[in-house]
Amino acid sequence: MPQTAFTGEHSLDAEELAEAPVRYPSPRRLATPLKLDGAKAKQAAEALGLRTVADLLEHVPRDRREARAIATLAPEETATIVAEVRRIKARPVRRRGMRPLVEATVADHSGSLRVTFFQQPWLVDRYPPGTRVILHGRFDPRRGFTVQGHAETTEPLSGDADATAVSHYPATDGLSSTQILALVRRHAAAFDDVLEPLPAAIRTGERLPDRPTALRALHFSAEDSDHEQGRRRLAFDELLLGQLALQQRRRGRSRGAAAPRIDGPRGLTARWLQEALPFKLTGDQREAIAVIDADLARDEPMQRLLMGEVGSGKTLVALYAMLRAVEHGFQAALMAPTETLAEQHFQTIQTLLGAEIVRLGLLTGSTPAGRRSDLLAKLATGELSLLVGTHALIEESVQFNRLAVVVVDEQHRFGVDQRAALDRKGADGERPHVLHMTATPIPRTLALSHYGDLDFTVLRELPRGRRPIETFLCSSERERERAYERIREELRAGRQAFVVCPLVEESELLQARAATTEFERLATGPLRDFRLVLLHGQLRPSEKAEAMAAFAAGDADVLVATTVIEVGIDVPNASVMLVEDADRYGISQLHQLRGRIGRGAHASLCLLFGRRDSERLRALVRESDGFELAEIDLRLRGEGELVGTRQSGAALYRFAEFPRDVELLEAAQRWARELTASDPTLAEPEHALLRDLLRRRYGQEAQAPIRA
Ligand code: ADP
Ligand code: MG
Repeated sequence: MPQTAFTGEHSLDAEELAEAPVRYPSPRRLATPLKLDGAKAKQAAEALGLRTVADLLEHVPRDRREARAIATLAPEETATIVAEVRRIKARPVRRRGMRPLVEATVADHSGSLRVTFFQQPWLVDRYPPGTRVILHGRFDPRRGFTVQGHAETTEPLSGDADATAVSHYPATDGLSSTQILALVRRHAAAFDDVLEPLPAAIRTGERLPDRPTALRALHFSAEDSDHEQGRRRLAFDELLLGQLALQQRRRGRSRGAAAPRIDGPRGLTARWLQEALPFKLTGDQREAIAVIDADLARDEPMQRLLMGEVGSGKTLVALYAMLRAVEHGFQAALMAPTETLAEQHFQTIQTLLGAEIVRLGLLTGSTPAGRRSDLLAKLATGELSLLVGTHALIEESVQFNRLAVVVVDEQHRFGVDQRAALDRKGADGERPHVLHMTATPIPRTLALSHYGDLDFTVLRELPRGRRPIETFLCSSERERERAYERIREELRAGRQAFVVCPLVEESELLQARAATTEFERLATGPLRDFRLVLLHGQLRPSEKAEAMAAFAAGDADVLVATTVIEVGIDVPNASVMLVEDADRYGISQLHQLRGRIGRGAHASLCLLFGRRDSERLRALVRESDGFELAEIDLRLRGEGELVGTRQSGAALYRFAEFPRDVELLEAAQRWARELTASDPTLAEPEHALLRDLLRRRYGQEAQAPIRA
C-alpha cells in the first residue's frame, strides 16, 4: 500500500475529533479522483495504487537520470539519452528462438547514434521516425548504443524538447513513467494543499524541508541537493512513524499494569557472585547487571534486549536477573525455542549456581505427565522459584505464584503472541520484567528498526581465558604451503583442525563431490600423515554421526567438511580452521564458521584462502567482533542485499537507505521517544496528523498495541 497524502478524509472518528480538534485545509484538490483516458490506463493506475491526486503526488520517481548529449558519450559508458528516432527497422537473428533485433538511428542536437534493442520487435511500430524517446543503455563506439532493460524505459517523451533530467516513475503496462510525469505536472497546483504532519520543533531541529517542498523536489527538481533533501525528509517521516509504532507497542505493554518493583541485591546474588562463581565477571557483564538492577527497581516492566555472541556470557547475566527475583521471593522463568536449548540452559544454570540452592525445574513438551503435574503444583504454590523450558511454559495450565522476571532466549524465534502469552503469566494486574536475548549479531540500524521498542545491552568482551582467534588471508601458493605447514604443526602438538570446502551453491551433489575430492587430495598429499574424516550433506545420517563422533572423540585429527559444521559442533581441542574459496562465503557465515574454534585453552588459527583484495576477507582478518562485522557487511553490501532483511521487513522503507541514514534513524527514535513520553496518545492538536498517519500506516497495531 502506498503511503497517501493527508487528504483529511476518513481520518479520525467523531469521538476523537472532539478530543483533538484539527483544522484540515481544504483537501478538495488532493481528494479529487484521478481522471484517466482508457480502461487500460485506469487499470494500470489502480494497480499502482493511484486513485486520487494525493496518491499521485506521493508517487515519487524511483530515480532520476541526467540525460546526456550524444556527442559527449564516452566509450563503455552507461547513460541515458533523450533523442528523436530517425530510422528504425527489424533484423532477423540467426539463432533459433531469438526474436528479431531492432536497429534504429536516433539523433539529438549534438549528433546521431546507432541503437540496438533486443527481443522487442514490436518497437518498430511503437517508435516510428519522429518519436522522441528516452533511452538508457551502454555506449560502444563501434557497435553503437545497446539499450538495457525493458522498453518501459524507452517511452516517448511528450513536450519538453530539452529536458535533461529524466524522472523514472514506478510504472506499469498501460501507464508509463512519462505519462505519470505528465499527470503530476497537470496537478502540480495541488502540492500547495499537502499537509505538514511534523511539529515545527522536529522539522527545524532536524533541518528538514517541509513536506510539500520535499515532494516537489523529488518530482521536479534537477538539483541533486534538493533531491537529497527531499528524499531525506520523506525517509525521516517513514522512520519516525516506524519508531512511533514501536514506542506505542512499548507503551502498550506497560499500560495499565505495573511490574513488581525489585529493590537492591540481597544475600543470594551477592553471595553467588562472590563465592559460587569460579570466575570474575567481564566488564560488559558488570555493566549489563547494573542496568538490569536499575530496570528491576522500577515498576515499569523491563523491556531489554541482551545481545551477545555465543559464549559471551549471556546466560550468566540472565541468571543474575532471575536470581534477583528469586531472592525477593518472586519467581522467574527462562523460555528457549527448542528442547535441546532448554536442556542446555537447565544444565548451565545448575553448573553456574554451584552450591547455591534454588528450587529449579525444567518443563518441555517431553516432560512426563507425572513430573509435569508435580512441577505445575509447586509452581502455583511458589515452592518452585525458577522454571526453564520451551513453549510449554506458555500453556494455559502453567500458573505461576508470582512471576517477576522472564528471560526469552533467541527471542526472534518466538512470535509476538507467544511472548505476549508469557507476559500474561504475571500476577493479577502485574507484568513481569522481560529480558530478551539474541546471539545473532545484527547491525544497529536493523536492531533499531525491528526492536526499537526495547532497550539494548551488548556483551562484546569475551570472558577471560577465552583465546582470541588469529585470522590470516592466504592468497599465493607459498602462503598455502605455509598454511599446511602450520596445520601440521598444530596436529603434531595434538590439536585438531577443520577444513571447510568450497561452497557449491548449485547442487548439494556437486558440493559433496568437491568435498570428497578435497578429502582425497589432502589425505594423499599435504596431510597424509594424519587421520582425516569426511563430512558432507550426501552422507547417510549414521555416517555423518560417525564422522562427527570420531572427530569429537579425538579419533580423527582433521574434519574435512562442507558447511554442515556451521551448526552444533563443539570440539574445544580443535584449534585450526581452514576455509577454501573463502570469497564465496558471506561475512557472517565465515564469522559463524570461525566460531567453531577458539573454544579451548589453546590459541586458535583461522586460515582463509581467497583473493587478497577481498574487502570481506580483509574485514575478517582485522575484526573479531561479530557486531562490528555486521556493520561492515551492511556497508559493503547495502541493506537490500543483506540476507533475510527482506523477509524481516527492512524493505518496509521506501526512502530510507542504510547505512546512509543511520543518524536519521537514531534521530527518529529520539523524537519518537520524546513524543511518546510527552504526549503518549498523540492527542495534542499539533500531533494529530502524525497520529492519523500512524493509524493508517500501522493500523490495528498502533491502535491496540497491548501485546509483547
Ligand atoms: P552465551 O549464553 O552468551 O552463549 P554463556 O553464558 O553460556 O554464553 O557462557 C559461555 C561460557 O563462558 C560458559 O561456560 C560460562 O560459564 C563461561 N563464562 C561466562 N562468563 C564468564 C566469565 N566472566 N569468565 C569466565 N567464564 C565465563
Ligand atoms: Mg548460551
